Amino acid sequence: MTIFQKIIDREIPAEIVYEDDRALAFKDINPQAPVHILVIPKKPIAKVADMTTDDKELAGHLIWVAREIAADQELDDFRLVVNNGSGAGQTVFHLHVHLLGGRGLEWPPG
Ligand code: 5GP
Repeated sequence: MTIFQKIIDREIPAEIVYEDDRALAFKDINPQAPVHILVIPKKPIAKVADMTTDDKELAGHLIWVAREIAADQELDDFRLVVNNGSGAGQTVFHLHVHLLGGRGLEWPPG
């Protein structure tokens, strides 16, 4: 079981900022920007590459939730990041969208 599943199950605490039947969003424990929120599906999908055609609407929903949180936070500029695989920086194998904002963001990322 991943740490994010434990957050979904309320076995460990998190600063939850949004929840619905399909998604949960909470503050990253090690923020890389003034706003750093993780948007996750409640369905235990390990990574983007493991999504199936059944998950297409869910994928869009996660981005929509991130958009709504960015609007709530009055962010004009922000970045959504999804790391897929350890070589791309993924450390928690429960799909998540990083919402980063509140500072200037360089491009390209490392
Ligand atoms: P990844 O590197 O897999 O794309 O991102 C995982 C993120 O989860 C990291 O930014 C890390 O700080 C965050 N994280 C890891 N464990 C916890 C935790 O227990 N609680 C919260 N809120 N964030 C976590």
